[in-house]
Amino acid sequence: MSVMVDIRSVHKSFGSLEVLKGIDLEVDTGQVTVILGPSGSGKSTLLRTINHLEKVDRGAISVDGTLVGYRRSGDTLHELPEREVLRQRTRIGFVFQNFHLFPHLTVLENIVEAPVAALKRPRADAVAAALRLLERVGLADKADAYPGRLSGGQQQRVAIARALALEPRLLLFDEPTSALDPELVGEVLDVIKDLARQGTTMIVVTHEIGFAREVADTVVFMDDGRIVEQGPPAEVLDRPRHERTRAFLSKVL
Ligand code: ADP
Ligand code: MG
Repeated sequence: MSVMVDIRSVHKSFGSLEVLKGIDLEVDTGQVTVILGPSGSGKSTLLRTINHLEKVDRGAISVDGTLVGYRRSGDTLHELPEREVLRQRTRIGFVFQNFHLFPHLTVLENIVEAPVAALKRPRADAVAAALRLLERVGLADKADAYPGRLSGGQQQRVAIARALALEPRLLLFDEPTSALDPELVGEVLDVIKDLARQGTTMIVVTHEIGFAREVADTVVFMDDGRIVEQGPPAEVLDRPRHERTRAFLSKVL
């Protein structure tokens, strides 16, 4: 199995606050990794470093064999040129808690924008692909609607379609259902489950333990800037080895 994401000894501070205290994580191609952990443990920051939204202070991250972010060899800090950073970022899809759709664009325009602007796809091709993606997330009839007219669950499904439009090698989800009313969570998780079945490589930060149990190949528990434990869901969720994992699970289950 090939490694899609390889994170080695990643450290990140904001001022004097060390948020990532040496993270090591491998994600194999076609696998789903679910990251759990209390608020403030560094989950979002870790996702953001993978996608260059944050620069790491120390350590290395590579995605699909290409180094992203920074690395320290000896005392030299290597930095990718901005152009390369942007190129890398277009190959990694990111789905946020609050959807981040463009409110002044229709659903279809939201999806078409990046492939046309970033990948220079012919517009007609991008539109055809977007319509197929909307079909896939069950929103073919909403192509001409504006995001403000959609439910949160529908907006998040559009955001997933938009991420897929760049044909990413890797999809990152940061609490994709946390902003949704409970009755809308299932429809978004169903789309993510569908992607998992098709072998999409994903890292999903979520508090949905049932989803983790069903979909994750690996569950990672983070606390205070560190990975406390990781393993198959049946191990981490049902037989956690660490007290901090047990304490967290007893609160969210
Ligand atoms: P999580 O997603 O697990 O809740 P975060 O990665 O968002 O955790 O945050 C980890 C810690 O880093 C928190 O204490 C948060 O306040 C802090 N933090 C996150 N982003 C920034 C930032 N841009 N500037 C300063 N502190 C930040
Ligand atoms: Mg977060």
